[in-house]
Amino acid sequence: MQPRGSSKTLASQTHKFDALILGAGAAGLFCAAEAGKRGRRVAVLERADRIGKKILISGGGRCNFTNIHCRPENFLSANEHFAKSALARYTPSEFIALVEKHRIPYHEKTLGQLFCDRSAQDITNLLEAECRDAGVEIFLNSKIHEVQHTNEFVVRTDSTEFRAPVLVVATGGLSIPKIGATAQGYDLARQFGLKIVKTRPALVPLVLPKKEQGLYCDLTGVSAGVIVSTDHHSFREQMLFTHRGLSGPAILQISSYWERGKPLRIDLAPDRQVTPSIREAKTRNLSAARTAFLGVLPKRFAERWLELHAPQSWTNQDLDWLERDLHEWILVPADTEGYEKAEVTAGGVDTDELSSKTMESRKLPGLFFIGEVVDVTGHLGGFNFQWAWASAAAAGRAL
Ligand SMILES: Cc1cc2nc3c(=O)[nH]c(=O)nc-3n(C[C@H](O)[C@H](O)[C@H](O)COP(=O)(O)OP(=O)(O)OC[C@H]3O[C@@H](n4cnc5c(N)ncnc54)[C@H](O)[C@@H]3O)c2cc1C
Repeated sequence: MQPRGSSKTLASQTHKFDALILGAGAAGLFCAAEAGKRGRRVAVLERADRIGKKILISGGGRCNFTNIHCRPENFLSANEHFAKSALARYTPSEFIALVEKHRIPYHEKTLGQLFCDRSAQDITNLLEAECRDAGVEIFLNSKIHEVQHTNEFVVRTDSTEFRAPVLVVATGGLSIPKIGATAQGYDLARQFGLKIVKTRPALVPLVLPKKEQGLYCDLTGVSAGVIVSTDHHSFREQMLFTHRGLSGPAILQISSYWERGKPLRIDLAPDRQVTPSIREAKTRNLSAARTAFLGVLPKRFAERWLELHAPQSWTNQDLDWLERDLHEWILVPADTEGYEKAEVTAGGVDTDELSSKTMESRKLPGLFFIGEVVDVTGHLGGFNFQWAWASAAAAGRAL
């Protein structure tokens, strides 16, 4: 999809605007439309050859565009209070109203997660239409060579110079480099003296150590409902074996909190007891255990678990240990699958540097950071887009 009417090819000239926005992703486009509606002359500079590439691949191609149960607790940040103001001032119901205005069919999949019925392109079309109606100009294929600040911001691309008193950085995170993620947003923050909270891949599959890979990774594709925990956080959802480790919603969620070298605790049979029926069986043996485990775990995983954990004898104490191991599988992941497979980047521009009402830099008035480049990271389930919309609205209304 190309922006119609509003897109420009590069020419050797200087353009003056009221605001320049770097990045035509979720946050950048939404902010541009919001500011454009308020009469600002806005240009969006996008490095890629089309807008919203990450939106198009989001939610398995259907874009989980918000979550109706969005609360500040669904976000990670060094400052847990920072996101509250923007989230309260632009709520999921406001974005849903916009989706309905554009007659986009959608449905709730699970846990308040709203997805497009047709495709994520409905959301990029919505953003493009809002920008067009607001008179926003979108410049694709804009590789930014230099950003300077004198009495205004000057952004130089291959052959064009853009000038404006306001610069909004909406360049997103580092995940999925092959669709054009760059670190330029973080570099700009540093250039203007803003601190960065160390970035790391989040909502990302985990890699198991070689030994556990050998024991479990031929179960690729097998999934089970689990509770997975770190010392301070727990998620109850599905876990999936992959060819190098673990994924599925439970693992993606906990990955955002996992620290390298630290263990994860996994309850493989939440709320269920597997050993009572073994204790009561006529003969306590492997066959009784198989029957019991097949009732709580997928077949291949149940069989593997018993191969590795079945006791020598079947004393009460052995059965206690068998039950305990099932509810407390302790694993120390070797690594994450990195930015190539991460849905988002945790960390980013330190929120201490920004106004929580407007996303404007406290050090340099006129400079704004919105969306994923900021140190606010949502849980899985539409929360990252809600942050993109909310932070964009906060900035867009202040431009
Ligand atoms: C596979 C996948 C699935 C996802 N699914 C969901 C989901 O269903 N629900 C959800 O809430 N979140 C989802 N996310 C996360 C969500 O896509 C992001 O959090 C969201 O897109 C962030 O919005 P943003 O505008 O900050 O960044 P982006 O949407 O990433 O936009 C940044 C834009 O800036 C451009 N850019 C980068 N560097 C430069 C530069 N130097 N100059 C100019 N332009 C630049 C990029 O090309 C891009 O267009 C998913 C992420 C991935 C990777």
